[in-house]
Amino acid sequence: MTPRLRLKPEAVGMGMTSQRVRDRLIERLRTGTENSQGITDERVLNAIRTVPRHLFIDEALATRAYEDTALPIGHGQTISQPWVVARMTEALFVDAAPRRVLEIGTGSGYQAAILAAMGLEVHTVERIGELLRIARKRFRSLGLDIRSKHDDGRIGWPENGPYDGILVTAGAPALVDALTAQLAPGGVLVAPVGGAGGQQLLRLQRGDDGIITQASLAPVVFVPLLSGTLD
Ligand code: SAH
Repeated sequence: MTPRLRLKPEAVGMGMTSQRVRDRLIERLRTGTENSQGITDERVLNAIRTVPRHLFIDEALATRAYEDTALPIGHGQTISQPWVVARMTEALFVDAAPRRVLEIGTGSGYQAAILAAMGLEVHTVERIGELLRIARKRFRSLGLDIRSKHDDGRIGWPENGPYDGILVTAGAPALVDALTAQLAPGGVLVAPVGGAGGQQLLRLQRGDDGIITQASLAPVVFVPLLSGTLD
């Protein structure tokens, strides 16, 4: 699948955002490290190579955009580490390519942009209004068609479901049943789950017979999934 991004000239890399710097990140993701298994899905690597991560963070941090690290985006939130974005996206594609996906926790909008660049129909929910407004501007300026709403994502977005894929990008002590309920047959949900002892990235799949199977992918660290909304 070819990314469908229409990039404006100012999005084309210069200096620290050059293609060479991005390629270095792709090689690191592909190879993996002691703590992170290599990413093998070329569709995912291609999307990460194409989507300009430096446009999803504050300009003052842009020189660090292609490091494999989470970065602050304000309001105590973070843009996820590229390896985590890659691993979660890859986990959606294990059996068949999903068509319609739901993300909980839009944040910077980067994960949603990766999914949209891969040709998926993306729905995303964010509880902090200001973060969502900034993310929407980024979607518009990159020409990405992404449906979003300002709400407490723990209720999901049932009106637009069911979904072939659901990504939860904030951590909760337990799986949220309302979200699992919005999975289509064959659908996959990926979510960080865990308490004080640490979070695990879980992958759940609803079989065509309705039975849910679960696997643990990796230990991760996410900001918390909180209730209610903020302006
Ligand atoms: N996917 C994001 C990661 C953002 S960090 C990115 O690519 O940048 C997690 C985000 O989840 C934060 O923006 C936080 O405000 C949001 N969040 C936390 N609890 C939420 C909830 N109940 N509903 C919707 N969003 C939530």
